[in-house]
Amino acid sequence: MTISMRAPLQRALVVGGGVAGPTVAMFLRRLGVQVAVLEARSEAAGDAGAFLGLAPNGLQVLAELGLGAEVRARGAACAGLRFLNARGRCIGEIDHRDHAQRFGAQMVMIRRAELHRTLMAAATERGADCRFDARVVALAERPGEVVARLESGEALAADVLLGCDGVRSRVRALALPSSPAPAFTGLCDIGGFARCPGAPLEPGWTVMTFGRRAFFGAFAAPGGEVWWFHNNGARETMQVVDPEQRRASILALHAGDPPWIADVVRATPTLLGPWALHDIMTLPRWHAGRVCLLGDAAHATSPSAGQGASLALEDALVLARCLRDAADPPAAFARFEQERRVRVEAVVRQARKNGDGKAPAGPLAAWFRDRMLPLFLRLGAAAQARFYEHRVEWSPPAE
Ligand SMILES: Cc1cc2nc3c(=O)[nH]c(=O)nc-3n(C[C@H](O)[C@H](O)[C@H](O)COP(=O)(O)OP(=O)(O)OC[C@H]3O[C@@H](n4cnc5c(N)ncnc54)[C@H](O)[C@@H]3O)c2cc1C
Repeated sequence: MTISMRAPLQRALVVGGGVAGPTVAMFLRRLGVQVAVLEARSEAAGDAGAFLGLAPNGLQVLAELGLGAEVRARGAACAGLRFLNARGRCIGEIDHRDHAQRFGAQMVMIRRAELHRTLMAAATERGADCRFDARVVALAERPGEVVARLESGEALAADVLLGCDGVRSRVRALALPSSPAPAFTGLCDIGGFARCPGAPLEPGWTVMTFGRRAFFGAFAAPGGEVWWFHNNGARETMQVVDPEQRRASILALHAGDPPWIADVVRATPTLLGPWALHDIMTLPRWHAGRVCLLGDAAHATSPSAGQGASLALEDALVLARCLRDAADPPAAFARFEQERRVRVEAVVRQARKNGDGKAPAGPLAAWFRDRMLPLFLRLGAAAQARFYEHRVEWSPPAE
């Protein structure tokens, strides 16, 4: 079917109110587009998503929207990462303290719920119609428009529909049904927030421990909270339903690791997750007709490169710019995919590689890792610098 859409873009539906959704809505509002953001969660969903790190490349998109200072104030700067072996010895470090100078911003750690609230509130202030409890269950294309049907039965129409609904995207399944399923990375994730004054953590630093049987990350937030995550490879973790059994299984996996890890896990009122981590190395097409995917829906990346949210922010700016500049939405979607694919696929590959390195190692492999990690970190820092220094621009380049 040939689609002709010469008229200027007037109405957009954005499915998903996570990271990409409210951000693309804000850029579209700049263009005067009437935007509805449809989010399945209820507004009071709380801390369902633990926390994440926003890298310099993502923070520059928030700065473009005038939200940089607010996000920094709601989160906390990350001074860097320290890596420990299972005996608690520091075997490597990545220092972020010169990143403001090198990359224009220093990584910010932020609770996911806080980031979602900030973005949805800012999009609402800028005139987007942000709705919670609005799960999209079906799509249809009609001449001149695309229609989304909500679980409530309500139908909404627009010129374009942007799928920002994450790794398990319903929009992807409906609009691009032959897309490959996301792949399991081999890692499961559980996290939480604890007060554990005895933990030997320096405020602002993230400590990553290669435990004997599982990996543990802990960020010492200002105010004395520890924000932590635990990764292990066992899918069975996902099947443990009782929270106390789950806690017991994490404690068992960290038996013999630095004892403060168990203290932090015990001091956590509510365990968050578990999440089976999936990624999408390459999706053959990101758009069909009036529908385009962005963020995790198009290129889900495992958390191990700390880039998924930042890529979603970059996508939002680039897609809105393409819609501003291209002759019609299909041309904009094609340009967007062409501009983004190589970069995001490189990040997804790197994140998978980083995640593979978290797998428990036997004594010989652990001995080798402890000695080689500083070299691997130096090599990894070069790749990381390429991710951090990437810039997406809203304004056309000066003539
Ligand atoms: C445990 C964990 C830790 C992570 N840590 C980091 C990190 O430190 N740094 C980093 O950069 N990235 C991290 N990531 C990855 C990051 O979370 C994602 O890359 C990012 O959230 C992608 O943004 P998005 O807007 O594309 O999707 P999401 O943030 O997943 O948002 C999708 C939204 O769509 C909504 N939705 C889903 N289906 C529907 C539907 N049918 N109708 C309406 N709404 C729907 C969902 O409720 C959700 O709010 C982590 C991921 C996980 C799982």
